[in-house]
Amino acid sequence: MRIHVTYTGGTIGMVKSPHGLIPGADMRGWLYRLLEETHMHGEDVSFTELDPLIDSSNATPESWQMMVDDLRAHRDDADAFVVLHGTDTMSYSTAALSFALSDFDKPVVLTGAQHPLGVIESDATANVTGALNAVMDPHAHGVGLFFGHHLFAGNRVTKSSSWAFEGFSAPMTGPLARTGTPWHWYPLNDEGEGWNNPQPYRRHDVPVIDMAPGITAARLEAMTHPLPEAVILRAFGVGNVPNVEPGLIDVIADVLQHDVPVIIASQCQQAEVLLGHYETGDAIARAGAIGSGDMTLEATYTKTVFLLSQGLRGKEFTDWMTRSIAGEISLEP
Ligand code: ASP
Repeated sequence: MRIHVTYTGGTIGMVKSPHGLIPGADMRGWLYRLLEETHMHGEDVSFTELDPLIDSSNATPESWQMMVDDLRAHRDDADAFVVLHGTDTMSYSTAALSFALSDFDKPVVLTGAQHPLGVIESDATANVTGALNAVMDPHAHGVGLFFGHHLFAGNRVTKSSSWAFEGFSAPMTGPLARTGTPWHWYPLNDEGEGWNNPQPYRRHDVPVIDMAPGITAARLEAMTHPLPEAVILRAFGVGNVPNVEPGLIDVIADVLQHDVPVIIASQCQQAEVLLGHYETGDAIARAGAIGSGDMTLEATYTKTVFLLSQGLRGKEFTDWMTRSIAGEISLEP
């Protein structure tokens, strides 16, 4: 089987510097030595190192596009693809890639590590060999994220620990597979409608704003002006926003009236946004806010940027936000 590995940066390949960890390890050499000692010895493995290698906290939509471009450039030379990535924003990248590669038709698995590969207790070897096993398995499908002992759908996963070797979880769907002898594979989530001929990711002005008890209309007004291209509001529970705070709902309604979509997400990791379930969510629903359903924040944000990058606005944008492109949202039965 032919495998292509794209190395983007992250702790996995970092070394110490006077100001903290920075990319610098010989990832290519380490990877080929690792493969030589396994049953993958002799497999056809190609390797790209993106330039510059980054701490994934520095990733932008342009970084997502660099990954998409590298994967597409090697589309015909490999059967399966592994991307080595920092953990901080890996779940944003996996969600972003799932939308941009819904027509790719070959499995892609991202992984990284909590500890650099040169550290004795590092999880780098386990995660990279796990990602390789996952992507070479006949069950492998779409864009996934392997970490710890689990494979997750790339647009259903979130970083849930900054230190644990099981650093990721998929709160709404659970994993696609877990390691073991043999691995255990779970049924696939919905695959979505797909997207033909996706336009490249571009950076868009989309603030993610958290509600907190005591937020005032003046503060929300300041956070939403000048008007951005869309707003993601992380509300409470099933999508509730304080409705007795003077002027607060009016700020949201005003943003919507200027044709700026407002997407209501939840601060709960395990959530299904149901606007209108309570009076506190009803007013914003009537004003035209869009509920994010059971999407992760990462899927909600990257989908917003994806749809804006496709040139969608107004009703078309709203419509696609609640449709499934790549299995990122559960649809009403
Ligand atoms: N800051 C690092 C990154 O995301 C963290 C890691 O890889 O674990 O690139």
